[in-house]
Amino acid sequence: MIIIIIIIIIIIISTLLHCRRSPVMQPPCELICKQCSRLFIHAVVVDCCYQTYCDECARQYVAAENQCPGCGAAQTVDTLRPNFGRQQRVDDWIREHGRRAEPEPRR
Ligand SMILES: [Zn+2]
Ligand SMILES: [Zn+2]
Repeated sequence: MIIIIIIIIIIIISTLLHCRRSPVMQPPCELICKQCSRLFIHAVVVDCCYQTYCDECARQYVAAENQCPGCGAAQTVDTLRPNFGRQQRVDDWIREHGRRAEPEPRR
């Protein structure tokens, strides 16, 4: 009986150690810009499909293409609005995880 308890305790401890050693925690996908595959920097939202992008990513795309990077609707840079709520969640995530963990860009 005692042996079973010891085995269970060993399993719990090894699980805890494994969690602590686990590789970089990936941010939730709703905090990732679909343009650059990184955490938002100055998140902005487009007013057609309400997708969020980094200010720079959205601005560059809209300035070059005159359309939304998400749905292709006609857009101008004037319609980009700061998404303070989303940016706050990005900042909170970075604070909670202690560093600026940048996920690898997907290819
Ligand atoms: Zn759109
Ligand atoms: Zn971006």
